[in-house]
Amino acid sequence: MYNFNYHCPSSLQEAESLYAKSEDPMFLAGGHTLLPTMKQRLNAPTDLIDLAGLTELAGISREGDVLQIGAYTRHADVAASELVQAAIPALAKLARGIGDTQVRNRGTIGGSVANNDPAADYPAALLGLGATVVTTKRAVPADEFFVDMFETVLEEGEIITAVTFPVKGDAEYIKFANPASRYATVGVFINRHNDGVRVAITGAASSVFRCSEYEAALSSSFAESALNGITLRTDNFNEDLHASVDYRAHLCAVIAKRVIASMV
Ligand SMILES: Cc1cc2nc3c(=O)[nH]c(=O)nc-3n(C[C@H](O)[C@H](O)[C@H](O)COP(=O)(O)OP(=O)(O)OC[C@H]3O[C@@H](n4cnc5c(N)ncnc54)[C@H](O)[C@@H]3O)c2cc1C
Repeated sequence: MYNFNYHCPSSLQEAESLYAKSEDPMFLAGGHTLLPTMKQRLNAPTDLIDLAGLTELAGISREGDVLQIGAYTRHADVAASELVQAAIPALAKLARGIGDTQVRNRGTIGGSVANNDPAADYPAALLGLGATVVTTKRAVPADEFFVDMFETVLEEGEIITAVTFPVKGDAEYIKFANPASRYATVGVFINRHNDGVRVAITGAASSVFRCSEYEAALSSSFAESALNGITLRTDNFNEDLHASVDYRAHLCAVIAKRVIASMV
């Protein structure tokens, strides 16, 4: 590690003003991505602005058919929430499958969404469910939020305050997890509702994406066989020591079929 200034503001306004005054600042949430990257010198902020003191960023509530999860809500709290379990059980299950106990007790939904790791779980739920990312400046539909690997539409100094999820239809998420980190080698989130079917895939490509080929097929026939013969475009698929492009493409169909099988 190297020297940096640590701040712990007690209001959003103070956090924004500290950010504006600092030379090369970053917001800190659970630290489970940011601190390891600082240790590796992949990030070297002059100032860390810890969001831990902003009580307005934590918590889960439901109003009608909208479930709201504060940005500083930890994965363990989403997993354990009776509100989430009742409204969108697939979301609670997804949170329960993130990393290990330590990661779930520190990591936050806002940090995960802001980071947009191509293998992260929450982005699949946001896209699959048609969620909205609420920030200090605006409300962004998930369809417009994730840009590319570790890139979102967030601007300098913009803080995610909450994520809102529409509660509609039924949903399921299954991932083929990396055995060490539990990140998704491929994870598929499917939401079926009166207006159609949404399918989001994480882990496979440089960023989470909606799979229009699967959505079209499942909207006409919600059955595993509907995916037979569909070949996905793989030009931006990831290849690493864990899985080749072809293997990830194969996993997309296998995992999607498992999700469908668990929903019919
Ligand atoms: C061993 C290990 C295993 C893991 N396994 C998984 C897994 O299986 N699935 C998975 O999805 N993730 C996994 N993770 C990642 C984990 O979920 C992290 O918690 C998450 O990616 C980042 O959340 P955080 O709260 O720790 O954010 P931080 O590390 O504190 O911040 C991450 C980034 O987001 C920014 N940020 C944070 N909060 C906000 C906000 N409210 N507004 C704007 N910007 C913000 C920060 O400035 C930083 O750039 C794993 C991590 C580790 C260390």
